[in-house]
Amino acid sequence: MLKLKIGTYLVSVLFLVVACSSKTTTKNENSTQGVYKKVSPEFNQDSAYRYIDNQVGFGYRVPNSPEHVACGDYLVAQLKHFGAEVIEQKAEVKAYDGTVLNMRNIIGSYNVDQAERILLFAHWDTRPFADRDGNPENHRKPILGANDGASGIGVLLEIARQIQLKTPALGIDIIFFDAEDYGTPAFDDDTDNSQNWWCLGSQYWSKNPHTPNYKARYGILLDMVGAPSATFYKEQYSDVYATDVVRKIWGTAYSLGYGKYFINKKGGAIIDDHVPVIENRNIPCANIVQFDPNSSLGFGWYWHTMNDDMKNINRETLKAVGQTVMEIIYKEK
Ligand SMILES: [Zn+2]
Repeated sequence: MLKLKIGTYLVSVLFLVVACSSKTTTKNENSTQGVYKKVSPEFNQDSAYRYIDNQVGFGYRVPNSPEHVACGDYLVAQLKHFGAEVIEQKAEVKAYDGTVLNMRNIIGSYNVDQAERILLFAHWDTRPFADRDGNPENHRKPILGANDGASGIGVLLEIARQIQLKTPALGIDIIFFDAEDYGTPAFDDDTDNSQNWWCLGSQYWSKNPHTPNYKARYGILLDMVGAPSATFYKEQYSDVYATDVVRKIWGTAYSLGYGKYFINKKGGAIIDDHVPVIENRNIPCANIVQFDPNSSLGFGWYWHTMNDDMKNINRETLKAVGQTVMEIIYKEK
C-alpha cells in the first residue's frame, strides 16, 4: 500500500478535531473497561500464527509465479475446509509496467441467504520488489510478506474456522484480494501515476462483484496486523467514510483490553484495498493497518524489505486484532 501525504493544514485541522473528541471518548471508554462482557468465541492466536507460517512456507506469492498458484490453492482449500461457499474470481489485470497479471480473488461466504452482511478482507499477494530495503541490490527482489500480506489472511482464516463452529447472526463474506502490492516501485520514476497501480484485485472486484449489486452493511480490512507491539491508528479514509465502523472497532478493542494496540488518534491517509470498495461499492470500510507516527514512512522498519519474515509476527498482536473483529461480528444483529 501507499501512504499519501496530506496537506499540513488539513492534518492540523483534523488533529484539532480529534484532539477534542478523543478526550470525551476516552472518558466514556474508561467507564466500560473491566466490566465489559465478551460475547464472541475465543480467537486462537496459535492457529492464526500457523496459517501465516503456512503461507510464508510457499515462498514469495507474487502474481504469475508457481508459488502464487500453490498458495492460492491452499487458501481456497482452507476456506472450503472451514465450511465457506467459495467463489474464485480470475481475471487478467495490467500492472504499472504493462505486465499482465493473472489475478485471483478468493471469496468465502457464510449465511449466503442472509441479506444483511459484513465484509472482511485482506490481500494475499506479496510485493515483487523490496524497494525499501537498505541494500539497493535487493530492490528488485520479492518480499516474503509475513506481515504485509500473510498476517491479515491468517487472522481471517482463523475467523473462518470460528464461524464454522458458531454461526454469527449476519452473513459474512471473507475476501482475499490479489495484486494489492504490485504498485509502482520507488526506483521507477517514469511511470504514469495518473491512475492507482496498487490494489488491482480490489479495484477489479469492486467494479465486478462476485454477486450482482453486492452490498454489505460495512467492511473491515486487515493489513499488516501481526507485528510485535503494533499500533493501529485511525486511518483517515476510514475515519471519514466509515466513521461509525471506526468508532465501533476502536471502542470494542478498548473494552476488550486492547487499548495499547488500538490508539485513539488519527493515523495516515493510506491507499489500500478499502478505498476502491468505498468508492465503487459505496460500502463504508475501515482499515486496521499498522501505523507508526515516529517512522518516516509510517510503517514498520521492515516494510517492503527482505526482512518482512516470521520474526515480525507476534501472537499477542494477532489475538488483539482477531478477537476485536470477532467481537464486532458476533455482536451484530
Ligand atoms: Zn505492501
